[in-house]
Amino acid sequence: MFDKLRNAFKSFTNTIVNSITTTELSEDKLSEIRDNLFMQLVESDVAVDVAEAICDAIINYLRGLKVPRFGDKELMIRNGILEVMNKLFSEIQDVDLISEVTRELQVKKPVILLFLGPNGYGKTTTIAKVTHQLMKRGYTAVWAAADTYRAGAIEQLEGHAARLGIRVIKHGYGSDPAAVAYDAINHAKNKGIDYVMIDTAGRMHTDVNLMNELSKVQRVSKPDLSIFIADALLGNEALDIAKYYSKYVRIDGLIVTKVDAYPKGGAILTFLYELKRPIYFLGTGQNYDDLRPFNKMEFFRQLIL
Ligand code: GDP
Repeated sequence: MFDKLRNAFKSFTNTIVNSITTTELSEDKLSEIRDNLFMQLVESDVAVDVAEAICDAIINYLRGLKVPRFGDKELMIRNGILEVMNKLFSEIQDVDLISEVTRELQVKKPVILLFLGPNGYGKTTTIAKVTHQLMKRGYTAVWAAADTYRAGAIEQLEGHAARLGIRVIKHGYGSDPAAVAYDAINHAKNKGIDYVMIDTAGRMHTDVNLMNELSKVQRVSKPDLSIFIADALLGNEALDIAKYYSKYVRIDGLIVTKVDAYPKGGAILTFLYELKRPIYFLGTGQNYDDLRPFNKMEFFRQLIL
């Protein structure tokens, strides 16, 4: 996965390993290395600002670096770059979503998860995938069809629900989505159901009415986690929309979908750096099991070591 981004780091570290000796790198050489890395990161879909920040941090590390005559030069440099990346992204704490929400269940029931994001990014499929993960562990869930705007949204959710054997709480189209969420939570309380997953509307354009509506859903449902679904293939657009959302609603973390069709990989770095939120999972296909936990440290290790 993410071959292009991995190759960018690989060829970059190889260049450094070949250039560096026991003497410091010259400023000319550093500048050449920087330009090369920058280009490769941008070509791998890393946003320009983020690529700049990564290049600056790595070049700072390389400036003045002297490698000992003996020992594994390559490993030392790779570890150095890994440390730089961990530091640059240190504000983001990895969260294991399944552990987090099952721990939460010890103190509160139902645990409420709110799913946010534009249409087509994979929101309903992801709700089904996360629910499937919890059901495999013996937990129960109910869904709130709180996208009361888009024709077909309720039926789409019901299609997944039928496959998983999940109850959907719904009102008609045009009804108040916050009321649907409220009803689903009450249903879960009455029936002793563990989790409530709330689907929401996501119109493509920045839309203040939608934001006010989502903000009301969040206020009324008081979710334990609000999760933004980001489509990897639409990296910068998804970033702009997530930033717009976050002016109106709290976003606790992300699930990044469609990474199976996304060898570039750079959007992952962009989302982490710009949104400073954990990525809980990567969506890796259209089946319910195609959901892979994401760990920032592990991701960097795969890119660099
Ligand atoms: P929504 O409108 O945001 O609810 O999006 P859907 O859940 O309907 O997903 C839109 C399309 O993307 C569907 O065809 C899904 O099967 C597909 N999809 C969702 N997640 C993934 C993923 O991780 N990988 C791939 N390849 N396709 C996905």
